Amino acid sequence: MAVKKPVKSSRIKSLPRPPIVVVLGHVDHGKTSLLSKLKQQDLTTKEFGGISQHVNAYDISGITFIDTPGHAAFSQMRSRGAKVADLAVLVVAADEGVKPQTLESLKHLQATQTPFLVAINKIDLPNANLALVKAKLAENNILVEGFGGDIVAVPVSAKTGQGLDQLLEMINLLVQMQTLEGGPNGPLAGVVIESGMDPHRGILATVLLRSGQLIAGQELWANDQRAKVKALLAGNGQPILKITAGQAGQVLGFGDVPPVGSWVGEKASTVPAAAANTENPPRRQAKLKVVLKADVAGTLEAILNSLPDEVVVIQADTGLINGSDIELAKTTGAMVIGFNVRLSTKVQKLAEMEAVTVKTYQIIYDLLEDIEKKVLKLMEPTIDETVLGEAEILAEFTVNGERIAGSRVTKGRINQKDRLHLRRGEKILGNCRIKSLKIGKVNVEEAKTGDEFGAILSPNLDFVIGDMLRSYQLPAKADGK
Ligand code: GDP
Repeated sequence: MAVKKPVKSSRIKSLPRPPIVVVLGHVDHGKTSLLSKLKQQDLTTKEFGGISQHVNAYDISGITFIDTPGHAAFSQMRSRGAKVADLAVLVVAADEGVKPQTLESLKHLQATQTPFLVAINKIDLPNANLALVKAKLAENNILVEGFGGDIVAVPVSAKTGQGLDQLLEMINLLVQMQTLEGGPNGPLAGVVIESGMDPHRGILATVLLRSGQLIAGQELWANDQRAKVKALLAGNGQPILKITAGQAGQVLGFGDVPPVGSWVGEKASTVPAAAANTENPPRRQAKLKVVLKADVAGTLEAILNSLPDEVVVIQADTGLINGSDIELAKTTGAMVIGFNVRLSTKVQKLAEMEAVTVKTYQIIYDLLEDIEKKVLKLMEPTIDETVLGEAEILAEFTVNGERIAGSRVTKGRINQKDRLHLRRGEKILGNCRIKSLKIGKVNVEEAKTGDEFGAILSPNLDFVIGDMLRSYQLPAKADGK
């Protein structure tokens, strides 16, 4: 079904709160440029967030736009199946099309059931190819209008401004079609999108509110961390009286830095304190160590300049991969990456013996894409998995000496044959299957959203009330790398 082009309208009216729109996509596809251009075109733009932290949350034409929240924030939100934005703009460059982070963004959107539209950016470039990009999107099940589906795709240029009016109109239209949850009078609900220590003011957390409002003196919780609001700050660092639903602002008053992605509310969230305190560090370190070999110095330098920040280069050199490269990789816990260089059978055998991973490439793009995937996987080990359902453990019983997790399905389904993760907040405590699944006294194969069930886990993991069971599926062709 094609969405009709809407009649031009001005600012959003008649919604309970400003809609929250997140901008996502592959690096360099133009997310920041797109927001900058939209800001330039709207003189009423206000920037949320503070002097010391660049938060990238803006009020543009009555819509709260958030530039891609950091990976940590998204992982947290995703782990709770939480929808933070009302709508997402998936930015795809017209010259490059679908790339790994486009698909990664899509996974987040699907996991959090966030509706989205596609902005095909950089259409001013001579090698922009709209049809090809749409076909590539279709290959990845993003079916846009004219290519088998009804997902809105708007061609734009953040450079010339072409198409931006239409993009805003489409965003308006799509948010108007939704029932926005929350308003200023609703219960307090939001998420920490940025947090840190300001050298002058102390701990500051930027909170995006979906519902309710915050005023000075009020108490709030971010997961299990309590804060009493000492002051609220706007984008220019000036104190403000309140933050209301649909807005972002900085909160002064936390005793510890609340992790990005923490759930904000009037009560502590269900994440047990022990888990959130020590086992849930504010930011995950993901570093991929590599020993790099390339045929010539020029390519070596080009690769070094293009590696993501999360890669630590232990050694970079030209020439064949040799035994000492393998030894170095082994002692430092690195992998060996070769570009246009061979690997003798002897060295290959040594690598196998020492359990060192060696990968060689002939195309720089393949090398970089592979490294990017590995980094993403380090940051989020469950990235390849498809979530089939989730349940919260609400009670514990013991029957005939067996521990039973009394749970409710919060999303999707839990099937007796599923693989499950037992999760506490972000942390996976263990993997298990279900030995017995009952609704009431009846044995069942599957529990669906809203069903309450009792399950005996195998192995009998040490769950506590508030833990989550997540049913997941591995990709069909997991290569185990
Ligand atoms: P982000 O990583 O997705 O935020 O991408 P940026 O906004 O930083 O843009 C990456 C690069 O693409 C920058 O050099 C921009 O100037 C360029 N760029 C962004 N949008 C456009 C566009 O519409 N046309 C052209 N020609 N270049 C663009």
